[in-house]
Amino acid sequence: MMRAFEANFNPARIIFGQGTSAQIGDEVARLGCKRALVLSTPFQEGDAQALAQRLGDKAAGVFAGAAMHTPTDVTQRAVAAFHAAGADCTIALGGGSTIGLGKAIANRLDCPQLVIATTYAGSEVTPILGETENGLKTTQRGPKILPEVVIYDPDLTLGLPVGMSVTSGLNAIAHAVEALYAKDRNPVTALQAVEGIRALHTALPLIVATPRDTDARGLALYGSWLCGTVLGTVGMALHHKLCHTLGGSFDMPHAETHAVLIPHTAAYNADAAADDLAPAAALFGSTIGTGLWDFAKSLGAPMSLQSLGMKEADLDRAADIAVQNPYWNPRPIERSAIRALLQSAWAGMRPE
Ligand code: NAD
Repeated sequence: MMRAFEANFNPARIIFGQGTSAQIGDEVARLGCKRALVLSTPFQEGDAQALAQRLGDKAAGVFAGAAMHTPTDVTQRAVAAFHAAGADCTIALGGGSTIGLGKAIANRLDCPQLVIATTYAGSEVTPILGETENGLKTTQRGPKILPEVVIYDPDLTLGLPVGMSVTSGLNAIAHAVEALYAKDRNPVTALQAVEGIRALHTALPLIVATPRDTDARGLALYGSWLCGTVLGTVGMALHHKLCHTLGGSFDMPHAETHAVLIPHTAAYNADAAADDLAPAAALFGSTIGTGLWDFAKSLGAPMSLQSLGMKEADLDRAADIAVQNPYWNPRPIERSAIRALLQSAWAGMRPE
């Protein structure tokens, strides 16, 4: 029997395919804009400058100061650069950090945003913005935050280092695993989530073997689009709450923390959401927790919070914070069980 559901989908213009980043100038014009401020991290500044050069007079300049967790002081400098350059839209070239900056600017100025996504984190298709001010990370949603145009060009991901490709891909899979049992899931998000996991499950081992395999890179980007889309469509649960806790209060790295935690959080919810998780478990040929853990290990992903620098002495406080204002979750959030989960993830144990 079909369960009852309500469905709300975000508008999206997606351009997918090898070489499609060359269309960015046409897309700026299509939005009715004339001068784009190109955004990047310092690491990708060379690519951003090259893009601005190709855009010619459609580029207002480059702001290459994007940083992890979208610090508001960086946004203030970027907004000043936007005005000084006479820009009327932004192009974020990069991953979640750069896209976060574009979202933060759009949230303040309501200017159109274009994104050329170069990781698998999925932020480009969500109306979600996390910002950091005075060490505190706050998250908000809203229509101004959602980028208007997203380009997925596999050519721009060929150089994403293998380690980052793996953790970013597992970050995307984590979005989809949680979407499968989300309280407000619907039949379409379930299809998108399983297809996203399937694509990344196939692509990531190929990328580890041959990092410049364009077909595998395309498949991974396709999977990340679907996983990001479900992240932006339905609510998240225990896994994302734990990642936000560890990222926000313990400064743990984003994608790596997702990669370590997802086998453990999926195992925590495995019985409570068995039917919803069954198609994903089948892809891994195992129970969901052990299947994800074995898959991550086979890819050479980081396997423990300890290896990411988390201190064992902080686990109690992390459990305390994680059980405060918990997100909805299919299995009740019990402090002792969450503490045990964190211990297991800290030590890198295989979830049973
Ligand atoms: P990132 O954007 O921080 O990128 C990490 C590094 O890799 C940067 O130096 C970047 O310049 C570089 N890089 C990116 N693409 C590259 C490529 N193709 N080749 C070489 N180097 C490349 O990493 P991320 O994991 O994509 O983003 C993490 C941030 O995104 C976090 O702040 C997280 O909170 C946020 N995020 C937000 C959402 C959302 O919906 N709001 C979703 C996912 C992630």
